Amino acid sequence: MNVFQTPLTYLKGVGPNRSKTLASELNIHTYQDLLHLFPNRYIDRTRFHKIAELEQSSAEVQIIGKITDLKKVPQKKGERLVATFVDETGSMELVWFRGIKWIAQQLKPNQEYVAFGRVNWFNSVYSMPHPDLELLVEHEKGFQISMQPIYPSTEKLSNAGISNKVISKMVLELLTSHGNEIAETLSSEIIDQQKLMSLERAVKQIHFPKNSKYLAAAQYRLKFEEFFFIQLQLLANKMKRKQKIKGYPFKIVGESFNSFYKDHLPFPLTNAQKRVVKEIRSDMGSNAQMNRLLQGDVGSGKTIVAVLSMLIAIDNGFQACLMAPTEILAEQHYNAIKELLNAIAIEVRFLSGSTSKAERTSLAEGLKDGSVHILIGTHALIEDTVVFKNLGLAVIDEQHRFGVKQRSKLWRKNQLPPHVLVMTATPIPRTLAMSVYGDLDSSVIDEMPPGRKEIKTVWRSDRNRLKIFAFLKEEIKKGRQIYIVYPLIQESAAMDYKDLMDGYESISRYFPLPDYQISIVHGKMKSEDKAYEMDRFVKGQTQIMVATTVIEVGVNVPNASVMIIESAERFGLSQLHQLRGRVGRGAEQSYCILISGDKLSSDAKTRLETMVRTTDGFEIAEEDLKLRGPGDIMGTQQSGVLQLKIADVVMDKDLLMHARQIASILLKNDPLLSDSNNQPIKNAYNQIVKHKNIWNYIS
Ligand code: ADP
Ligand code: MG
Repeated sequence: MNVFQTPLTYLKGVGPNRSKTLASELNIHTYQDLLHLFPNRYIDRTRFHKIAELEQSSAEVQIIGKITDLKKVPQKKGERLVATFVDETGSMELVWFRGIKWIAQQLKPNQEYVAFGRVNWFNSVYSMPHPDLELLVEHEKGFQISMQPIYPSTEKLSNAGISNKVISKMVLELLTSHGNEIAETLSSEIIDQQKLMSLERAVKQIHFPKNSKYLAAAQYRLKFEEFFFIQLQLLANKMKRKQKIKGYPFKIVGESFNSFYKDHLPFPLTNAQKRVVKEIRSDMGSNAQMNRLLQGDVGSGKTIVAVLSMLIAIDNGFQACLMAPTEILAEQHYNAIKELLNAIAIEVRFLSGSTSKAERTSLAEGLKDGSVHILIGTHALIEDTVVFKNLGLAVIDEQHRFGVKQRSKLWRKNQLPPHVLVMTATPIPRTLAMSVYGDLDSSVIDEMPPGRKEIKTVWRSDRNRLKIFAFLKEEIKKGRQIYIVYPLIQESAAMDYKDLMDGYESISRYFPLPDYQISIVHGKMKSEDKAYEMDRFVKGQTQIMVATTVIEVGVNVPNASVMIIESAERFGLSQLHQLRGRVGRGAEQSYCILISGDKLSSDAKTRLETMVRTTDGFEIAEEDLKLRGPGDIMGTQQSGVLQLKIADVVMDKDLLMHARQIASILLKNDPLLSDSNNQPIKNAYNQIVKHKNIWNYIS
């Protein structure tokens, strides 16, 4: 067994009590865990402050002085110990609230001490509670550190006496006794080429840096390492998947595709669409299963790409399905695709939770005998009763709403898994896509269909609502349609629902019948009522759609030119972007009006300002990532790869891309890592795979 797997309790100076606390508070169980407890920051211990130069904003300081007076001061509960501490420039107080008796005995008056700690301005004097205190002579003899590591801490830890100093000592003890056994994990080739510090040195320097230059080099090495092994894992998985998971090879592009492409395309494809169709075609034409992410901003035209892909499946004698996250969206897809394919003999059917029993029975037959070519629907598609004759392609729209598990359910229906195309309109920042979906292939539609006008976005206070309503009347007069969206957030549904209803009432008053027709759609309605209201709006029978975010995804009404978002500060950036994407789909100038209260958090302000500044989904996604951090963006983390110890996908994104590239080159040259020079990498990699933990590989 490797020494770093030793339980921490065996380390000198730890013992069962401390190890228990460290395990529960910081999840540290072994030597290795302690080695990877990286300091949050460092304090320059070469610098000494004078008492006269203290400021109220001084954080941690180090002062040389003498204790001239010691007294116990009664307080509400018990007493505190107060020492007067002076240097040649002034005087301050050192204060203890716990362990008073013992401390009072230890302190030696009129001798020079180094006091280190945080200072407060309290009762017109500076005081330092529970200082790290060391006699100057001891300090000068002792282990000289210039940059003191500050480790993560918790209240329980400090109450248990496990101070920063104690943790530093443990780490120092570990490094002194076993530091030299830290084995290298990278090949010397990579270390030389990338000018990296050795792992042993980096680990030592990250804890006790000699100076800031060494610290930077250590951080670089460890960040590189962290990214490198994640990418190596993702790329190796991808490679294995390509070799192992066979897919149906769609060798031909046949009658349906060609006839549709030549004679029935409603518009010429953009270059981006052409490129992506080509990528999908060649992917499905190989013997491996396709697992491809298709990213394209709202309105970039993903639907037609999905349709063309499905036609390829059909031309090869297979069926295809398209799964959407909501009933409304599924139905829209169904109607749009049915219309697109009207001219060629393709059987398209629909399935959702509200599909009747009779329809299901007939559908089941058609799916079984293969006469149904394309099935479109909600996640009703993955119910056990849905059995295809031969599903060749599954298209999944707006993947972030579906769990990975649901996706894999689609797989069980064949001998071979169908090809999978995941479409998302929420652009994922490149770096994040690489870390989370690094083992998927990805296609990006990065070009909008021609003739689109940029949506004008403004941010208004809710005091301006009447002015906005007047503007809406003008737009309606021109024949346009309008969305007004209210937030509906699960936990406070009752309140939000009231907001929506109040809003609906005042809108109804301002836009009275019979001149104005209003649709309303929200989550509490029955799906047939929703569909009815939606349908009236789609057909242009109503001019205003009052809705909650159910319309967020995918809904396509080209004549709608204004999107009003009420309480816009309560929406996340990607949601705002999705909502805005509902307009600007026709030839008319479109508007997005964000309405908010006046009291906003700074994050909310940034979100709204970002929306006003740009319509570029990728830029918005990057901003969102900065604001929320990677964990939140992807929802609850199915993927451990984002629980990074030291690297940061936002701050270190260049390094991430670089590490991926190096990993990719390595795998290309030595896919099995069998070259003896790559032995250290192989060992480390095997450790990771064994422990499923990226940081468990130091051996
Ligand atoms: P999304 O990527 O958001 O799903 P859609 O596929 O719904 O986008 O397309 C948005 C709109 O753009 C639709 O009305 C569609 O007909 C139209 N569209 C798509 N591609 C093109 C194109 N190449 N030229 C013109 N219009 C297009
Ligand atoms: Mg869409």
